Amino acid sequence: MGILQALVYRKSVIRAARWIMGLALWLKELFMDLLMLAEALVACAIIGAASLRFRFVTLSGFFAALIIGVVVFAVPSDGWKWFIVIMIFHVVAAQFTKYKYHTKRRLGFAQEKGGARAWQNVTANGGIAGLFALGEGLWPSGILAFGFIGAVATATADTLATEIGLLSKRQPRLITDLRRKVSAGTSGGVSPIGELAALLGAVIIGLSAWSVGLDDLGVYGFKTTALVALLSGLAGCTLDSIIGATVQGMFSCPICGAVTENKRHCGSTTELVRGSSLIDNNMVNFIATAAGALAGIAVFNISMYL
Ligand SMILES: [Zn+2]
Repeated sequence: MGILQALVYRKSVIRAARWIMGLALWLKELFMDLLMLAEALVACAIIGAASLRFRFVTLSGFFAALIIGVVVFAVPSDGWKWFIVIMIFHVVAAQFTKYKYHTKRRLGFAQEKGGARAWQNVTANGGIAGLFALGEGLWPSGILAFGFIGAVATATADTLATEIGLLSKRQPRLITDLRRKVSAGTSGGVSPIGELAALLGAVIIGLSAWSVGLDDLGVYGFKTTALVALLSGLAGCTLDSIIGATVQGMFSCPICGAVTENKRHCGSTTELVRGSSLIDNNMVNFIATAAGALAGIAVFNISMYL
């Protein structure tokens, strides 16, 4: 073999070896990704099955939650941290919805279907959080985690405020006109106990996010995470009430005369009395969690200067 031939031969062997190593690395990464996806599916399916069993969600709610859960678990790096935070929302919201369900039902404000959430409700509360998890996976920066915290804090604060506020012994007042008392269950109505419940919801998410180290391995610390959850949760929840008091569609029941945000009551179609029939409770939640997410990123940026 001539020297030239030997060199060419050596080069092609090296090239082949490199190519095989590249392929092996790629296969390994693919395998790890598939493993992560399988873990996410198993975790979500187990929690989802339990949620179905305890009627926290309907079947459509189960599939919506499964998609959001798998995205949150599998897409961002260390997705399990994100997953734990959104699962805490899920469990806390379900517990508070079930709390004194029969009293709420008797008063006529209970969530339908035993409090089981359908896909519209799951998407309205968890969709924005899922999008931020997806975004962090595609463009890792660590900052979108604070948008995620803001969205989940808003959803938790709002759910707790609603479910506890319904039980308030004091008559709620309209957030856009605090002198005006409204009947319990009216969108946009606020009560001191409901606001306290909102605060509690935001604090729960702040503590959860901080304790799993969702804030990029604790780089930003407790102060930032707590501040983001608290302020964005309260801001999102307040916006939810303001939209609820202004543009959300409110209907009256032709059978019992109750004013409700539902398009059906007493088994009959209700009539629009104010707002837009396009903006229902789910739409309001979706807008509020989006605003909560943006507030979370804003608070994070501001807290860097504190
Ligand atoms: Zn009715």
